[in-house]
Parts: sequence; structure tokens; C-alpha cells
Amino acid sequence: MALVNIHFLNLQDNYLFADIAKKVNAFKVTHPQSDVISLGIGDVSQPLCPAVVKAMHKAVDELATSDTFHGYGPEQGYPFLREAILKNDYLARGIHLDIDEIFINDGAKSDTGNFQEILHWDNFIGVTDPIYPVYIDSNVMIGRCGTFADGKWSNVVYMPCTAENDFVPEIPKGRHVDVIYLCYPNNPTGTVVSRQELRKWVNYALKNDALILYDAAYEAYIQDPAIPHSIYEIRGARRCAIEFRSYSKTAGFTGVRCGYTIVPHEVTLATFEGERIPVHQLWNRRQCTKFNGASYISQRAAEAIYTPEGKQQVQATISYYMQNAHKMLTVLKSLGYECYGGENAPYIWMRTPGGTGSWTFFEELLYGANVVCTPGVGFGPSGEGYVRFTAFGSHETTDEALRRIANWKNQQ
Ligand SMILES: *Cc1c(COP(=O)(O)O)cnc(C)c1O
Repeated sequence: MALVNIHFLNLQDNYLFADIAKKVNAFKVTHPQSDVISLGIGDVSQPLCPAVVKAMHKAVDELATSDTFHGYGPEQGYPFLREAILKNDYLARGIHLDIDEIFINDGAKSDTGNFQEILHWDNFIGVTDPIYPVYIDSNVMIGRCGTFADGKWSNVVYMPCTAENDFVPEIPKGRHVDVIYLCYPNNPTGTVVSRQELRKWVNYALKNDALILYDAAYEAYIQDPAIPHSIYEIRGARRCAIEFRSYSKTAGFTGVRCGYTIVPHEVTLATFEGERIPVHQLWNRRQCTKFNGASYISQRAAEAIYTPEGKQQVQATISYYMQNAHKMLTVLKSLGYECYGGENAPYIWMRTPGGTGSWTFFEELLYGANVVCTPGVGFGPSGEGYVRFTAFGSHETTDEALRRIANWKNQQ
């Protein structure tokens, strides 16, 4: 008898974006003349930049003739891309890495989801709340999270991030945490972590023999020079932290698929006998067994981001989205809404007025202004009473959405 992995049955089946789509569809059926603008889901709207497109065409041409054809590449990624990452994303910021500490992948979702595989099943995990759902769900699938009640898993430590604590998570007291997921700039709140705060986490991990899984998918959006782009800017992080990066939001690669993970040689995990096993060795073994590399075309595309034209073009698109974010912050605040994020990240986290529930506000906005946002509670219990807006739309749709929200608000 083939038995099911029962942990999958514990997953909460109401997937946030499916629920949103259902509600939006219900609205469209009853209001066929209205057109709805979505500032909800976190996908980009602007096309790939010309430098990337050129590199992809060239890569396809190479695959078309036997002289320049590429079959399987290295599981860890091609040296040309790993060298470009090392030079531009790390050495340029004074961070030294070995080239073999860089693992190219097909996007950060895969690795942030897969990394828990190399951890013992009863490690205690800690997450900031609200949170990108992948971290928890991937741990649920392997049976690490306990039971679900009142919006929380019994074996997960939730560290609330709300306006009341300036979105700065507190170091867990009482309960020891073995594995900590941090995401900065944060999805969904759009807030960032200061060097000082990040140092607190690194020190906690070193002192308590914990592992930090640091998701820096939005680092390219940081505008303030004082904000760290990498956890390795903090002394000691090479001994306790893994870093995930993605080209999805940086360069519009959500459909191309490429990212990378940094696994420093010094990070180790313990056995019950007290032996220390290098995470690098475990992760390399895992990747060689289960992953055959990101496509040659994607990796050539990613390499092009680091050319002078590529850098300039990618920066122009990031500025384009950040102009949206700035406009959204300005308009929403002028309407009297309490807003956070949006300065170093493409997300605005807005408190719903008068303590309205996230889903109630979502529906009011949908029916009143025909604009879609994401209910904050979908990202965790501390997201209740907030909604998320993304700056990934075009200027035109963003402006129109803001006009509708202003009209709706002014009619109330
Ligand atoms: C979008 C996003 C990613 C990137 O996922 P990809 O698989 O690289 O497209 C990773 N982490 C967070 C928090 C994200 O929002």
C-alpha cells in the first residue's frame, strides 16, 4: 500500500492568492462592466532589459550548433556567473567569499523551501510574523511544525512585527530557537533591518548555536546606504548564516528563473554525538543528487545583469518601481492612511482604518474602488489589521489605482 506523507494533510489548504482570485472572480461575475486593478500579487510588470534579452538570444544560438552546444552544466552553476556574483554582489561591498560557496539555482523559492531538508526533524524554527509563507509550509511538509490552532503552528516561534514595535522582531525569550528565518527588505511589510539589529541576530545565533536562513530577495531595492544588503556585512555571520538571493525582483526574472544561495564553509550543524558537519558538504550533496543546474540560457541572462549596460538598465527598472512606491506612500498617507515600508522595498504595508479586519478591508476596497490588495492576515496572525500593496505595476495602472482609492476615500 502506498501511504501518503500525512504532513501534507496538515497544510492549510486555503492558499492566500487562490482565495483572493476567488473573491476577485466573484466580483467580476457580479460586476461585468467594472475593470479591476491589482496591486496584490508580487509579480513584476516590466519586461526584461535589452542586455538580458541579447544575452539570452546569444545563448540560444550557441545551443543551436554542435560546436557551441551546452548540455548538463555544473550542478552548482557555471563559473562565469559565480564569478560575476562574487565580484559585483560581494567583493564590491567588501565581503570575501570562495567561489564554491555560491550555488546557482532556479530561484529563491526552491532553495528557501528545500533548505530545511538537511535539518533534523525536531529543530525548533523561529519566524518573523507576518512572513513569506514558503518558510513555514516547507517545514510543515516534513512534520516539523506540530499542530495548527488559532492561526499558529505549535512548534513554531512567531516573532511579531507590527507598528507597535516598529517592525523590529524581538529576540525570542524563554523558548530556544534552532533555526531562524529572516527576510530583509521584508516581504510583506516592506520594512528593513538596521546593521545594529541584524548584529543582534547574528550574536544570538552564535551564542545559541542557531542557524539563520536569510532571504535577501529584495536587496536591490535598498536606497538608504546605511542598510545592509547582505548578512555577511555583519561580523560572525559566516559562521551561522545562509543567504538566499534572486533575480526575480531584481531584474524581472520571475519567468526566467535564476537565483543563488550562499553557503559559507564555516557554517556547521551538530550531531547528537557532538560532531560538527559542514552545511556546505550537506547542501552540495543534496544539490548534486536532486538538482541538475539552472538552464544555461538563464545563467547567461543573469550574467548580463552585471555588464555595465545591464546594471544601468536593471537600475532603471528598479527606479521605475520605486517611483510607484513613492507615489503610493505619498497619496495613501495624504488620504490619512498609516503606511509603512515602500522606501527600501517595493511593498507598502498599510494599517486598515479603525481596526477593520484585513479581509473586510480587502472586500471594501475591491467593491468600493475596484482595486485589489493583499490581506495582511494571509501572511500570519500579526498581519491582521494590515494590507499589502505592491509597487510592481506600471505607472499608468498604479496612478489609476491611486485615483480610485482617493475618490472612494473622499466619498466616505
Ligand atoms: C519573490 C520572492 C522570492 C523569489 O522567489 P523566486 O523563486 O526567486 O522567484 C524569494 N523570497 C521572497 C520573500 C519573495 O518575495
